[in-house]
Amino acid sequence: MPQPSIDWHARARALVIDGRMVIDGERRPSASGETFTCRSPINGQPIGEVARGRQADVDAAVAASRRAFDDGRWAHSAPAVRKKILQRFAELILGAKDELALLETVDMGKPIQYSLSVDVPATARCIAWYAEAVDKVYDEIAPTARSALALITREPMGVIGAIVPWIYPMIMAAWKLGPALAAGNSVVLKPSEKSPLTALRLAELAVAAGIPPGVFNVVPGYGAEAGEALALHMDVDAIGFTGSTRTGRRMLEYAGRSNLKRVYNELGGKSAFVVFDDFADLGRAAATAAGGLFFNQGESCNAPSRVLVHERVADEFIARVAAEVPHYAPADPLLAGTVMGAVVDDTQLRAVLGYIDSGRAEGAHCVSGGQQALAETGGFYVQPTVFDGATPAMKIVREEIFGPVMSVLRFRDEAEAVALANDSPYGLQAAVWTDQLNRAHRVARALRAGTVHVNQYDEDDITVPFGGVKQSGNGRDKSLHAFDKYTELKTTWIRID
Ligand code: NAD
Repeated sequence: MPQPSIDWHARARALVIDGRMVIDGERRPSASGETFTCRSPINGQPIGEVARGRQADVDAAVAASRRAFDDGRWAHSAPAVRKKILQRFAELILGAKDELALLETVDMGKPIQYSLSVDVPATARCIAWYAEAVDKVYDEIAPTARSALALITREPMGVIGAIVPWIYPMIMAAWKLGPALAAGNSVVLKPSEKSPLTALRLAELAVAAGIPPGVFNVVPGYGAEAGEALALHMDVDAIGFTGSTRTGRRMLEYAGRSNLKRVYNELGGKSAFVVFDDFADLGRAAATAAGGLFFNQGESCNAPSRVLVHERVADEFIARVAAEVPHYAPADPLLAGTVMGAVVDDTQLRAVLGYIDSGRAEGAHCVSGGQQALAETGGFYVQPTVFDGATPAMKIVREEIFGPVMSVLRFRDEAEAVALANDSPYGLQAAVWTDQLNRAHRVARALRAGTVHVNQYDEDDITVPFGGVKQSGNGRDKSLHAFDKYTELKTTWIRID
């Protein structure tokens, strides 16, 4: 909720950043002493210096993780013990809500109201949920002949490398940390070089909560340095990766070139949002499409960026989306009422503006937005942008833009809608809007996506798996299924004479 009484600018000015990494429960500089400058997308100004992790730092973090795993200080503790400590970790996260929210907002540009109301609570809930689950998950005994007993147990894997992006930095980290730590693993987290601040603070809170040293380490740094070193490491047992499809491809190569570690990729998306002409409440569909896409400056993997509308209602739908656009006017993320903030950096700004130029050049009609905004602030803002008349071959339709740009395509019938929706290398999410029950089921089944929404796009819960098909990745974050990623099934045969 907005907290108008807090002067977030004053708090931002007073921030003192400790950018040192967290290894073996301690803050330490990088082995080389090098740092990189963390800049705020709000105004392009430096926020602080952060340790630049490289091979030596990753080696130290992995060694600390391995020691912690092998001596059983965490892995061998009773699930009920891990539960209590992780619950405490979640409480400390909520206790540090204002500080974590401010760090997230200054680091990656999202409105403070959402850092407070979405990111911090979702992070705490994720950790608490896995804490609560871990002493309720039972192992199995196989139904074999009486001459033997076959136990099927879930064993923690060992050292998990978690590599996460700059969107929802805390939540993405929590989706790995929650199940991996609850299951008894040790973790080395490599946050994005564009948003390392909350990860470092989370590791401090974890130590304060009682997670033993070495169990949760954070090595900030660049992808090609710290990220590559971690993913290639011979003593890392699995990589939980969230990021672009391009980097996800590399993760699989790294595993092939090293120890065949497990790789769980949660990658990009270009989600289709299909609106049929039988759906009566077009206003709600339009508002939901705008909300889903423009939330978080369009920087959401599951943003409904390909909107497919039946030609009979397309004009009305687009007019209604355009009417929503003013609500998302970019503004200072540190003001309590701001709904759309800054995109993460200048590179991202240029990329998004480049896509907008290509949409125009390829013949789509820009209905609203289409420009940089608030350039005088020195920050990186883009107007919420809607293209009508987009066609399947256009770059704005094929590629993930990761900015506030909606492309609307028109279709004539259900078969064409399904074909267009599935005509993408991605398969993260999709939506179907219809008042016909049969059509809802038929189309939901036909859409190739990890999640399909029917007549909504907002529902989300830690109890529900999140992940994609095709080049949107494999594996699932969230829900009890995430334990599958961070545990190995072990069979123990016992002969009974
Ligand atoms: P990215 O792939 O550029 O970076 C992600 C992480 O990988 C960062 O920590 C980065 O430093 C690291 N990295 C980059 N190059 C590397 C390399 N060569 N070796 C090792 N590590 C490397 O992605 P991004 O731009 O930070 O994030 C945006 C992407 O994340 C989008 O494609 C979005 O769809 C995706 N995403 C997916 C999900 C999901 O659950 N499917 C959730 C959030 C974001």
